Amino acid sequence: MANFFTDNDDLSFYLEKGVDWAQLAEVTEHGFTREEGFKNVAEAAAFYKDVLTMVGELSAKELAPSTAAIDKEGVHVEKGEAVIGPAFQKAFGALTQADLHRLCVPRELGGLNAPLLVYFISCEVLGRGDIPVMAHYSFHSGMAMAMVMFSLKEGSTEVDASGRITKTRFAKAIEEISSGAAWGCMDITEPNAGSDMAALRTKAEQAKDGSWTVTGQKIFITSGHGKYHFVIARTEEAKNPSDPLSGLAGLSMFLVKTYDDLPDGTRKRYVTLERTEEKLGQHGSVTAALDFDHAPAELIGKRGDGFPLMLVLMNNARIGVGFESLAVAESAYRLAAAYAEERTSMGKPIARHELIADLLEEMRTDIQGIRALAMAAGFHEEMATKKSLDVFGGKAHGEASKEVRHHRHVARRYTPLLKYLASEKAVEIARRGMQIHGGVGYTKEYGAEKLMRDALVLPIYEGTSQIQALMAMKDTLVGILKRPKDFVTRIGQARWRAMSSLDPLERRVAKLTSLSLSAQQYLLTRTAAVKLKTLTDLPVASWKDVMTRSWDPKRDFALAMLHAERLTRLLADEAVAEELLSQARRFPERKELLERWLERAEVRARALHDEITTTGDRLLATLAEKGEAKASGA
Ligand SMILES: Cc1cc2nc3c(=O)[nH]c(=O)nc-3n(C[C@H](O)[C@H](O)[C@H](O)COP(=O)(O)OP(=O)(O)OC[C@H]3O[C@@H](n4cnc5c(N)ncnc54)[C@H](O)[C@@H]3O)c2cc1C
Repeated sequence: MANFFTDNDDLSFYLEKGVDWAQLAEVTEHGFTREEGFKNVAEAAAFYKDVLTMVGELSAKELAPSTAAIDKEGVHVEKGEAVIGPAFQKAFGALTQADLHRLCVPRELGGLNAPLLVYFISCEVLGRGDIPVMAHYSFHSGMAMAMVMFSLKEGSTEVDASGRITKTRFAKAIEEISSGAAWGCMDITEPNAGSDMAALRTKAEQAKDGSWTVTGQKIFITSGHGKYHFVIARTEEAKNPSDPLSGLAGLSMFLVKTYDDLPDGTRKRYVTLERTEEKLGQHGSVTAALDFDHAPAELIGKRGDGFPLMLVLMNNARIGVGFESLAVAESAYRLAAAYAEERTSMGKPIARHELIADLLEEMRTDIQGIRALAMAAGFHEEMATKKSLDVFGGKAHGEASKEVRHHRHVARRYTPLLKYLASEKAVEIARRGMQIHGGVGYTKEYGAEKLMRDALVLPIYEGTSQIQALMAMKDTLVGILKRPKDFVTRIGQARWRAMSSLDPLERRVAKLTSLSLSAQQYLLTRTAAVKLKTLTDLPVASWKDVMTRSWDPKRDFALAMLHAERLTRLLADEAVAEELLSQARRFPERKELLERWLERAEVRARALHDEITTTGDRLLATLAEKGEAKASGA
């Protein structure tokens, strides 16, 4: 019987040995001390494998056969409610029946207590069956976990001496979501504010009795026909446009219940579902526009905490898009590889034509490289979160512990690289998949065009590729400015390893790292040179301060911003190579993958380095001229 988990050797590698499940299970299972939990790593790992094997079968049997019908039936609005087609309902019903919405919810809240990484892998496996079903699935267990995290962060969850949750603010909603009767969603985007969150205008007002209401319009809300909405709204009045409260600091997070189902079978709505968007792809997924008119709301955390709270959700959501992208890419690759074996041209299967063989091999290599990055990002994000909270069996050292800081650092470095690389590659691989199908790729017969349509939104939602690139660039360069000595040490170490390592693969990875560091050094040197020029108008006493402290990425990093996507691709190639090298050292059978990755990444890295160090000045000069002309009113 077809199984989308067990038919994937690369995924099996991660379940068998590629992920340190001992660490993850230890912290998730509270050191294996609980009566109701697993007793050791072997028991826990066997459960994770059983779940994923079941998900793999379900995806192949219930989702994949319905995917074309789900795409065709789409969704629409009737009498103010979203109408979902029967094919979607049937496929999604199979997930609910399998009790999958409880997957990572803590046991004391009625959940199965699996690690989030198991949930992320389940997303990839389900996405291979159907992307909209997987997208809707991610607004269940993931949102219930967000509720747990928010209540822990605001301190409203009570735990006993052993760290068991005894009382939590959102218990009722968590149970509704776990049972599949409700789901959550994330309401950030507005008509005039997408990437620019500081421009959000939806307003929250507090009445004299302390209660809150939210008023405004939110658009593009995935699974926005749901009951529980995490809404970002403005609560603080700014004194003037330069007051930080006019930007991100003035935002707060609210839980808005959009409706109640009454005992008489009718629904009482507090928020209007205006429309569902007609989209290029992901037709089975509801993308809603909502109108909030003094909708009752509950503040989460403190006033002004909206942006940091949203990041808790967003970091995991971005890793989620990494796994979703892998699902699309894996489907597209497999479809194309199978077609290329079956279709003959000029006397042989097209898979034997050098050009097509090259395309297919690159697709497979990219998928495996990205999966290494996705597993590492998911692992470190989860370890950082759980190790910082005693309720998850961490040692309650909080963010300050060295271990937590290490996991946090890697997760922060890898997350934008993953979101960028995985989503961009999913589009590229889906397009190649279509191309390999020739004329039938452009028809609906094989499903290749559907994957292309489903893929195209991946570099847009949860922060566009450009926003990921800006974040990765800013974190990298500001990190160097904060710790210049570390940077110099890293340059020295990479050069030394590139020359003297006994392992030829390590020498090649070190050369790639050297190229990346050289591009970073170039961008910083050029940026510093521009900054130095500004010193001439300032008193000498302030020079040190300006050069060491007062860096404003928006003002000072023009060249780096221009090259942010190129730098991000270089950083991602470097990160994947590091991860694959670490795997190859432990498991010699992974050397072949690292070699395949390096063969292509080395050439790419040299080209990216050249582009960064030789282009951009002409365009920056033009932009500067335009800026000056605008300032002078010309
Ligand atoms: C199918 C779908 C589902 C979605 N689901 C949700 C959801 O569940 N919840 C939610 O809140 N939102 C959701 N969104 C909204 C999505 O997150 C936004 O569309 C996205 O953040 C981009 O915002 P925007 O559309 O306003 O584009 P803009 O921000 O206007 O960007 C337009 C272009 O300019 C680029 N750009 C913007 N600023 C910069 C800059 N400073 N430097 C360089 N380039 C820049 C962008 O990368 C993009 O290419 C969804 C969108 C879609 C299409």
